[in-house]
Amino acid sequence: MKLNVDALRYLSKDDFRVLTAVEMGMRNHEIVPSELVDRIASLKHGGTYKVLKNLLKHKLLHHDSSKYDGFRLTYLGYDFLAIKTLVNRGVFVSVGRQIGVGKESDIFEVATEDGTVLAMKLHRLGRVSFRAVKSKRDYLRHRSSFSWLYLSRLAAVKEFAFMKALEEHGFPVPNAVDCNRHCVIMSLVQGYPLVQVKQLQNPEMVFERIIGLVIRLAEHGLIHCDFNEFNIMIDDDEKVTMIDFPQMVSVDHRNAQMYFDRDVECVFKFFLKRFNLSFQEIPDDIDDAEGDMDESGRPCFSSIAKGSGFLDKDLAASGFTRKDQEDIEKFIEGGVEKDADSGDEENEDGGLASELNESDISGVESLHLVEQPTLNCDAEGRVEESEQKTEAGLTNGPETQDASDEEEDNETMIRKDAELTKRLRNQKRRVIASVRGGRKNLASRNTYKDKGGSSSHNSKIQKQLSSW
Ligand code: ADP
Ligand code: MG
Repeated sequence: MKLNVDALRYLSKDDFRVLTAVEMGMRNHEIVPSELVDRIASLKHGGTYKVLKNLLKHKLLHHDSSKYDGFRLTYLGYDFLAIKTLVNRGVFVSVGRQIGVGKESDIFEVATEDGTVLAMKLHRLGRVSFRAVKSKRDYLRHRSSFSWLYLSRLAAVKEFAFMKALEEHGFPVPNAVDCNRHCVIMSLVQGYPLVQVKQLQNPEMVFERIIGLVIRLAEHGLIHCDFNEFNIMIDDDEKVTMIDFPQMVSVDHRNAQMYFDRDVECVFKFFLKRFNLSFQEIPDDIDDAEGDMDESGRPCFSSIAKGSGFLDKDLAASGFTRKDQEDIEKFIEGGVEKDADSGDEENEDGGLASELNESDISGVESLHLVEQPTLNCDAEGRVEESEQKTEAGLTNGPETQDASDEEEDNETMIRKDAELTKRLRNQKRRVIASVRGGRKNLASRNTYKDKGGSSSHNSKIQKQLSSW
């Protein structure tokens, strides 16, 4: 989707106030009645309808009069609210070119005040593809446009939380800078998606790094679930960075085995097809007494046991709750319209519906609508911060975590962790040895390390435009 931020410079305080009022109304209305928008916005001098017309003209709202006269946010309207909030926070000052179109997102460059270029990912769940086609088609039929906003926001919160936690645990991921609504700001990865890479100086080493990441994630109780050549970035030094985390699950997930195997399979298949890396039977002199590899040398999920604990604690700290995880999993797996609808923000009659009574409308003042600053843009479309740094909009704070979830038997956890780490290390060693098969001396298996930061291989990656 094209993102033209030019209109940002023309939008007034009142425009944003009304836009935010529609967003607020969408918490319990698929289409927000015009009168409700007017009441929530309560512009000092009236004129909501004129503002609505202006917002419609800029395609920030969609008008619907099929059942009653009302409005809903478009993705562009949601984009503007998120961008404005982040600009007001001082996270970036301008929006540049589009650098990526994902399955369910658009990625743009943004620049900070000091000229640093960052990546902005705008989640667009519901746009194109879904994993389980049939259930998703069913799912689509019942989803309101608001649900997409809600799910896109969840995806962003989740992605941000995972990126931050993974970064803190030393994984090669972009630096998570900030997040608002469906928008995540992260460092720009200098490199190309693996799918665009035709030749590697050292495919075996890159393979080791990548398969090592799948195993290391499992060591931390996690499965990526979309670990493929589109979500692995490689730079000129053949350093690997993984991206795209909204679909990650815990190793406790009921389909964990399938997701883990699928991630492993994607890597094996891709390296076989693209780099002709052959995977041989486990060499005879490799002891696989623990059974942590299958005959083809792929790591076995069953030998990984349960190693979670990582998810709940670290992620809840970043504002991503267990309920958020459940909601997003329901969406990813599909077929759960009813349950997803029970989420606070989607509740048609109850829940937050009660928030939009008269007393809450007067309470809008406390939600910073009045303090909302206006964005100023210069001639090049650079968005300038105004003096006030209040947030535009009404993002929901993190839910408090169930206290009982936090109680863990630390000693058991530590022991389990140590055992798991040991087994996985063995497993990793064997996988690598198996990949190398007869081609290399098995002594080299001991040289396996996750050399994420290494720049010893000064190879030039040859890009090709993907034919996929
Ligand atoms: P989706 O979830 O829609 O698949 P991704 O996070 O995989 O979205 O991003 C889509 C594409 O955008 C990637 O394949 C990559 O080319 C580009 N991209 C995403 N994040 C970054 C980043 N931090 N730096 C550079 N490019 C990125
Ligand atoms: Mg992707």
